[in-house]
This record gives sequence, C-alpha cells and structure tokens, in this order.
Amino acid sequence: MRIVLLGAPGSGKGTQAKLLVEKYKIPQMSTGDLLRAEVAAGTDLGKKAKAAMDAGQLVTDDVVLGMIQARLAKPDTKSGFILDGFPRNIPQAQSLDAMLARLGQPLQLALLVDVDTDVLMKRLTGRRTCGSCGAIYNIYFSAPKTSNKCDKCGAALQHRSDDNEQTVGNRLKVYQQQTAPLVNYYKAQGKLRTVRGVGAVSAIFKNVTDIIESQIRPLADVMGKIESAAARQAAKAKAAAVAKTAAAKAASRAAKVPPAKAATAAAKSGPVVKKAPPKKAVVKKAAPKAKSKKAAKPVAKAKKVK
Ligand SMILES: [Zn+2]
Repeated sequence: MRIVLLGAPGSGKGTQAKLLVEKYKIPQMSTGDLLRAEVAAGTDLGKKAKAAMDAGQLVTDDVVLGMIQARLAKPDTKSGFILDGFPRNIPQAQSLDAMLARLGQPLQLALLVDVDTDVLMKRLTGRRTCGSCGAIYNIYFSAPKTSNKCDKCGAALQHRSDDNEQTVGNRLKVYQQQTAPLVNYYKAQGKLRTVRGVGAVSAIFKNVTDIIESQIRPLADVMGKIESAAARQAAKAKAAAVAKTAAAKAASRAAKVPPAKAATAAAKSGPVVKKAPPKKAVVKKAAPKAKSKKAAKPVAKAKKVK
C-alpha cells in the first residue's frame, strides 16, 4: 500500500505513521530521515543537500525527489510505503506523482488526519516537558497533579520557546496556506480519505486501519491478481514463442537443406542467429517469423555460391 499522510503540525499523524509501520511492515519515508541518511552516506544527493543546508538554503525538490526515488529502489518498499512530511505543496505533489507514475508505483491513498485549529493550538502551546526525566504533559489535556511539577520525579516542567502562541500560530498558518490545498488536490484524484484526529490514539488508529482495509486492501488484492495473471500470460507467450522458433528452425532445415549442406548453412547463418538471440525473439512476438525469413535467406545464397 502506498500512502501519503496529511495533517497539520500537532495532528498526531506521526504517531499514526509509526503504528502503520508496525502493523503493515512497510517503511515510513520521512524526508528528514532520508536527508540525514544520504548526507551520512556521502552520496551525490547527500553532498548536494549538505551544500544547500550549509549555505542556509532549503534543499531543492529535485534533491528530495531523488532521495525518495533512491529509497524506493530498496527491496523493503516492494509492498509499499508511508510518506509523512512530503509533499508539502502542490508543485511537490505533482512532481511526486510524475515520479511514482514513471516507477509504476502510484499513490493509492492520501489520508488526512483532521484536527480543529483551536485543538491544535492547545496541543502545541500546552506542551510541557520534565527537564529531569523527560515526561511529557499538556496543561490542557494531561496536566500534572501539581502545577508545573513532574508527577514522576517532582522536577520543574519546561515550556519550549518555540511552543509559544505566536510561533505555533505561524506554523499553522504556513500549513493552511501551503499544505491544506493538497487536500483538494488528492480529493480531485479520488484518493483522499479523512479521519478525525481527536480522542484516544488507539481509536483513531482503528479508523485509519478501517479505511485502509476497505479502500486499499481490495484494490491491492485486485492489482495483485491482475499482475500475476499478466505474469502467467507472459510466461505462456514466452514458452509458445520459444517452441515456435525451434519448430520453425527445424522445419526450414529439414525441408530446404539436405543433411550434408545443413552444417554449412548453419555456420553461414550463424551470425544472423547471434544478432537476434532467443531473448529478443521472446520479447517481440513478431520476431520468430522475421527470424526464420532471415535465416532462410543465407541458406538460399549458400546454395547459389556452392
Ligand atoms: Zn520528571
């Protein structure tokens, strides 16, 4: 299953992505992880990305798409992937679609984890972290028993500076302007499904898997059947072509060339046969016919010369 997850910062889509990875054993492709891996491996893409980052610039879409394509070449993406954090805008979505179409691995589902903006604000601005043990609280949804004190170790709770209302408000505004239009983009493709991202994580995940089971699974099964039927068909055609070629060769030798001259004819037509090896003949259905004609010509010539 090939899924892209959509949702605002604080929607909890990252949590859902992790659960999906566990349940369906398909990898999550996050552009941040891909970037770090390519930079660490010192690949060409990694070097380009590092140069951009060192210069304080954004990594270009081409580089990001290149990294996604490289990641898709690895065997663990055979049964699918989950994209989280990319695409972030319409041009990126279009480039991604074009690339996946080239690879024959189009997206099957765009899943939006939908949460109202005021809830997102509370989730992001209400976060408090224990500076000592790392326990996480939220003053609106999971407040500590004593204000600003960790329930577990009693240490003071910290409020990250970028969790303030203005910064969070800006992040949500950027999301609304750039990423929210993707909802309509995927809706127009008929690939958008929405889950409400409020309530217990397990209940949200149940809704997510219900959507996947009802939307993608049947589709994936049908696609799998079509693909294996096509593979069987191809194997049948291959066998038939091979048999036809062999029969044609045998027939032309037996009918046109007396046994003594057969060896000479075979030797002279040798190069022609090599030019069109059996593999090519299998791919192109018309090849065996053309080949037997070609093979017959040198035989006729050989007769005249001798
Ligand atoms: Zn603590």
